[in-house]
Amino acid sequence: MSRRPDTASAVLTIDLAAIVSNWRLLKARVGRADCAAVVKADAYGLGAARVGPALAAAGCRHFFVAHLEEAVALKRHLPADASVFVLHGPTPGSEAEFVAHGVLPVLNSRPQIDAWRRLAHVLDRALAAIVQVDSGMARLGLDAHELRAVAADRQSLLGVRVAYVMSHLACAENQGHSANAAQRERFIAARRMLPMAPATLANSSGIFLGPDHHFDLVRPGAALYGVAPVTGAPNPMRPVVRLEGRVIQTREIAAGTPVGYGHAWQCGRPARIATVSVGYADGWLRGMGNRASAWFGGTELPLVGRVSMDTITLDASALPEHALVPGSMVELIGERQGVDAVAARCDTIGYEILTSLGGRYARSYVD
Ligand SMILES: *Cc1c(COP(=O)(O)O)cnc(C)c1O
Repeated sequence: MSRRPDTASAVLTIDLAAIVSNWRLLKARVGRADCAAVVKADAYGLGAARVGPALAAAGCRHFFVAHLEEAVALKRHLPADASVFVLHGPTPGSEAEFVAHGVLPVLNSRPQIDAWRRLAHVLDRALAAIVQVDSGMARLGLDAHELRAVAADRQSLLGVRVAYVMSHLACAENQGHSANAAQRERFIAARRMLPMAPATLANSSGIFLGPDHHFDLVRPGAALYGVAPVTGAPNPMRPVVRLEGRVIQTREIAAGTPVGYGHAWQCGRPARIATVSVGYADGWLRGMGNRASAWFGGTELPLVGRVSMDTITLDASALPEHALVPGSMVELIGERQGVDAVAARCDTIGYEILTSLGGRYARSYVD
């Protein structure tokens, strides 16, 4: 059963035109470099099957996901000349599936490189891939020892066509962090040890570190979806997401009436409570209990008590008696509070808010 936005319990509106405009803004910033789109985790929860084609229509030709399955699902929605790269590389034994589906791996380790080279040998043709080096994050990519071993062994990349040398920044959203320049220098040194190939380093935040971090291809994700790329600076990205939850029931409570699980909220005055049909199963994180807010028009409605699986309770005392009725919609993400502001209320980041958005919303795509 498809949910109609006018009667659905909650509505998630995704502005594809804003995503495209954000991609264009980033592309304009990087000048001659190419601008990819990172659409892992279903385009950060917003729907890769819709986001991918919208960006491809705008001219994007490089897409990154984390898993092979994501790549295979995405490819069906993209033009034949678009490249899809899998950040995690092949799990052992899955290499041939990459070739069968025309998906390109990021090779992160010596074993991944070896397996890719062996497949190239078996197929008797060169196979393209990205080679990632760890420039100072200790997560994925060849470490200094593996890099030296690969550089010393001329056979190690035989049959591997290195499409890009890649690395990833650990602290790029913090422009003053000394790790940014240090990683860039290590990346440049690593490139010299590998076959000559184009290079890719910057994520969303890395783009804003300036041209010397752009190299040949940038890989923004979060900024496409409206998340602020630079800590402590105004957000240049257009907001993408609007989330509204529907009021199921309202009630008047006497002073001292406990609200919700664990009786985690009690008010010293009479209050008006509105119960809204969004909970932690929808990605309205439990950590928001007694901390976040919703909005109705220009009025902030504090979330009181714990977040339940399917509901939250709001203190609507600031509104006149019949302003909220069953069926009213309150804003959870939107003009009054963007993704980053919501994240700040429960000590997380916009990335986690977006990727947590659940599967129960009526999704409405606008362009
Ligand atoms: C997720 C990811 C990106 C995109 O990062 P954002 O901060 O969302 O722009 C780029 N590169 C790698 C390797 C990633 O894992």
